[in-house]
Amino acid sequence: MMKAIKAPRGTRDILPPDTALWNFVEAAVRDVFRAYNFQEIRTPIFESTELFARGVGEETDIVSKEMFTWEDRGRAESDKGQSLTLRPEATAGIVRAYIEHKMWDRGLNKFFCIGPMFRRERPQKGRYRQFYQIDAEVIGPASSGSDLPARDAEILEMLATLLHRLGITHWNLELNSVGSSQERVKFNEALRVALEPVKDKMCVDCQRRAVTNPLRVLDCKVPEDQPIIDKLPRITDFLEDESRKHFDAVQNILTKVGVPFSINTRLVRGLDYYTRTAFEFTHGALGAQNAILGGGRYDGLSEALGGPAAPGIGFAIGEDRLILSLQEKTPAEAVVRRPGVYVAPMAGMNADAAQLARELRRHDLVVELGDENFRLKKSFEAADKAGAKYILIVGENEVKADAFALKNLATGEQVQIGRAELAAWLKARIVP
Ligand code: AMP
Repeated sequence: MMKAIKAPRGTRDILPPDTALWNFVEAAVRDVFRAYNFQEIRTPIFESTELFARGVGEETDIVSKEMFTWEDRGRAESDKGQSLTLRPEATAGIVRAYIEHKMWDRGLNKFFCIGPMFRRERPQKGRYRQFYQIDAEVIGPASSGSDLPARDAEILEMLATLLHRLGITHWNLELNSVGSSQERVKFNEALRVALEPVKDKMCVDCQRRAVTNPLRVLDCKVPEDQPIIDKLPRITDFLEDESRKHFDAVQNILTKVGVPFSINTRLVRGLDYYTRTAFEFTHGALGAQNAILGGGRYDGLSEALGGPAAPGIGFAIGEDRLILSLQEKTPAEAVVRRPGVYVAPMAGMNADAAQLARELRRHDLVVELGDENFRLKKSFEAADKAGAKYILIVGENEVKADAFALKNLATGEQVQIGRAELAAWLKARIVP
């Protein structure tokens, strides 16, 4: 036998019945987001590399180590040599589209998108090279209110609603404010000074970060470094009036609407255009990869991408991890729609069976259709395998009488139902 080909490292097939769980999640997302007036946007899966270099940041792990990048061999001269990259995240593409289509005329834009992202990471449980994100962004000119704290609170409350709707409990919302870019410059400087006498006792990554980007020291997970990090200055002490008021307002709304949160002053995002609110939802059952989603405000991003000032805030849910935390309680079997009825034709009855199946399917029933070559025993086995609730035999006598025998495969109970009543009878007995 020839050597079989496997899916590339870090990618995986999502198979039925699990796909039913993915669809269940995505249907809930669409439903919940619609109530908050978010609309779907679909941007390309690959973009010019420069977009991510500018939009995510050259010094991030994503851009410096993890992107799938290639040079376009293009047919047209103008394409040749262009550097392209599979998107590692969605925000940059969405903000690019906002600028490209001059969407500021529409006032406040609320977008969402669901799709695959690509990062060359070391694969492990909950971490893949092709993974899926559910992403939402609110963006518009400041005159549309896109910079106001009510927007931040609204998307956080929307996330709490979505998790509740999916039956996911025991999540933690960690919240912080990273201030304005000026406030962060001062904070960074204070960190640099505080790290100077202690950095030699820290891990090699932190020794490097202490010089290049002190903010990122706060992300360190090495246990021995934690006592040192706990004593470092906190961003909250560097917030000035405006940022403090903004952060207070977000917290007030969350408290009023009943969304629990905790402040994590170590939650930061290292890039200049990230401002003010930063957040993460974690879930205990996920182990090391415990972040289900992250997000924050990026008031300077549009300008960094060559657009006009357009404050915005957004988040990305890791759909793979969301599904992992869901699977504990909701197995795919609970949401998959198995056939309500297996239509089994006797010899020579394929055409009649197809006609009957067509009628039933038009009534939104899930129907599996057998074949006249199957013996009755094989039809029963196939119906069982397909997970059908009933089996319906189509023989000459049944067609003549215009009535069919339906057998409940679990109980063995059998009834005779006229063709005209069939669809309604089945629908009343099958949970959609
Ligand atoms: P980020 O864009 O890095 O803030 O990621 C947002 C969310 O996407 C994270 O909270 C994770 O749930 C998910 N995520 C990020 N990277 C991966 C990955 N390699 N595999 C699976 N999920 C991921």
